[in-house]
Amino acid sequence: MSTKDYVEKDYYKVLGVPKDATAAEIKKTYRKLAREFHPDANKGDAKAEERFKDISEAYDVLSDEKRRKEYDEARSLFGTGGFRSGGPNGGAYNFDFGDLFSGSQTGGGSGGLGDVFGGLFNRGGRQPQPRRGADVETEVTLSFVEAVDGATVPLRMTSQAPCRTCAGTGAKSGTTPRVCPTCVGAGTVSRGQGAFALSEPCRDCKGRGMLVDDPCTVCHGSGRASSARTMQVRIPAGVQDGQRIRLKGKGAQGERGGQPGDLYVSVHVDDHPVFGRKADNLTVTVPVTFPEAALGGTIEVPTLNGPSVKLKLPPGSANGLTLRARGKGATRKDGTRGDLLVTVEVVVPKHVTGDALSALEQYREATASDDPRAALFQAAEGA
Ligand SMILES: [Zn+2]
Ligand SMILES: [Zn+2]
Repeated sequence: MSTKDYVEKDYYKVLGVPKDATAAEIKKTYRKLAREFHPDANKGDAKAEERFKDISEAYDVLSDEKRRKEYDEARSLFGTGGFRSGGPNGGAYNFDFGDLFSGSQTGGGSGGLGDVFGGLFNRGGRQPQPRRGADVETEVTLSFVEAVDGATVPLRMTSQAPCRTCAGTGAKSGTTPRVCPTCVGAGTVSRGQGAFALSEPCRDCKGRGMLVDDPCTVCHGSGRASSARTMQVRIPAGVQDGQRIRLKGKGAQGERGGQPGDLYVSVHVDDHPVFGRKADNLTVTVPVTFPEAALGGTIEVPTLNGPSVKLKLPPGSANGLTLRARGKGATRKDGTRGDLLVTVEVVVPKHVTGDALSALEQYREATASDDPRAALFQAAEGA
């Protein structure tokens, strides 16, 4: 027996008794119907059997004074007449179960209070509306190589879903939450008078509008359950640090046939000890000697995922010159690849000895007349 049953089933109608029927009238009617539809008297008649079940269920509730009262309360609030916009004493109370319970609905799934009541309070009508699942945010950290090549990574997602055992009501199975008498289901109470009245969450029901006497043993009355799922997600090649990827339809499940939400993945990319990244291009800094820079030559350069490449260093290459190895960069969306940008860095030896020292001293004498700062001073004076 659930609140949903209470809202959906008209037990008075099942028994064919008026709403103000006395206990004796109900008993009398039930006995008559039970005899008529009893399976022993209707062998093989599935319809009669179904009817007998309905009659018994209705009688179970209506014959129990306490449960009948709960049933009447639930139906007057949620059921037959739809939502009453005015309070019992004309004081306005508004409650929107969509708002109250939307916090417990982010995880998708079905069967929560939002499901049961959500549709009833839509002013336009009582048909439950499909609701799109929530968008979900998550993060992933990729290695540099994974980001360049693309990778399939497991994403563990936790979300709040209605507790399956109690269908989100928080009540132990076989019991039903009852309307909070303090706020009459509103979830809020007014304090103060007139224009100074303050509306605050009801303390007795913590703003839920319902009280649970026997809490569900699984969720301890919260009505919510943490659900975890692991999803394999394909991160496309060429993703960059700080980028946010949208995976359509991979968010929370929709409700009542609504579309699923989207999953947004914020990507962090680890640094690589050697390679850097500029859009589709990879970058690398390669040390060269002074003679290599001055005389030119061929330098061997590592690539990220393949064999090294040989690049021609022109004679007279300045420190910081950038060469380009075509097609050795990051993979683009269309499958083509960017370039590897190779920046040369002339290394200066810390200690020079022996033949190298004498050769350098010879070089200095040979170039003594070249003043590398002459142009600098000319420009400085001319300005
Ligand atoms: Zn309350
Ligand atoms: Zn539960």
